[in-house]
Amino acid sequence: MNYVGRLAPSPTGAQHVGNARTFLVAWLAARQVSGQLLLRIEDLDTPRTKPGATEQAIEDLNWLGLDWDPTGSEQTFTIQSSREARYAMAIEQLKHRNLIYPCTCTRSEIERAASAPHESVLDGAIYPGTCSHHDGNHGDDLKSQGIPFAWRFRIPRGIVSFEDERLGIQSLDAGRLLGDFVVARSYGVTAYQLAVVVDDHDFGINHVVRGNDLVFSTYRQMALYQAFGWDVPAWLHMPLVVGLDGRRLAKRHGDTRLSYYREQGVTPETIIGFLAKSLGLIDKTERISTMELLEIGRATPDWIHRTPAEPLVFAGFSPSGTA
Ligand code: GLU
Repeated sequence: MNYVGRLAPSPTGAQHVGNARTFLVAWLAARQVSGQLLLRIEDLDTPRTKPGATEQAIEDLNWLGLDWDPTGSEQTFTIQSSREARYAMAIEQLKHRNLIYPCTCTRSEIERAASAPHESVLDGAIYPGTCSHHDGNHGDDLKSQGIPFAWRFRIPRGIVSFEDERLGIQSLDAGRLLGDFVVARSYGVTAYQLAVVVDDHDFGINHVVRGNDLVFSTYRQMALYQAFGWDVPAWLHMPLVVGLDGRRLAKRHGDTRLSYYREQGVTPETIIGFLAKSLGLIDKTERISTMELLEIGRATPDWIHRTPAEPLVFAGFSPSGTA
């Protein structure tokens, strides 16, 4: 089967070195097998989406030397906000099968209910099921009364497993440990979990490369794939990039935006070289272009399975090109 992967930046802020690492792995994994790579802008998180961040992400990818398909045509990427009609169809399908229900619980109500000491919180509060006795028709009633609500997916009880290309088989009782999750808001905004599954399916994505902060989302998305009866892509979750304090890269670590380094005179080859070394693709940190790295990837395609399991510690670049 031809490899189809994707780059999926969220324009909620500028892309930083951590995003660059995931993009590089997604790009190399696709290109080394002459596969396709699509670009999707994940702009559904509207309050957090920043003006100009989409253009900035595209500029960052171009600057790093990471391309996507189809090349040469005008509209070469998908924007999730233009696909709400498609997501609404998927929601309708789930509603019809009573796989989702309307939920009016507030965040603080859920957190209060979930703070019972016996619950182990893996990825946010576990929804206690307060509204799960409702069916889809109740959503129509709420809508006609102008009462806001969220559509929640009934995640089945039992073990969900998936195979990560690096970590091997991963299993979790997702129903019990993650709980029913939101797939849309009544005012017409689709949640990340559903949009990603519908998009990956519709665009024939069969390889997903992303940060391991999304492993719990993968279990939720697996449950959605099963509900729709769709083929599941191969998954590769990469360890995150962290600062010297071991915490994931964020503002507290100073400016790690790609655009900042560009302004400082750091070259894309410096960044690619640093990331390539961190992935075990080259032995010592040196400047290297994505095209040069592609040759190395093609010659040693199993590098993906040997990348370090630990987070990558990053302390900044100097303009002279050292990490
Ligand atoms: N948009 C997400 C991010 O920037 C990636 C989501 C995904 O790959 O499924 O972290």
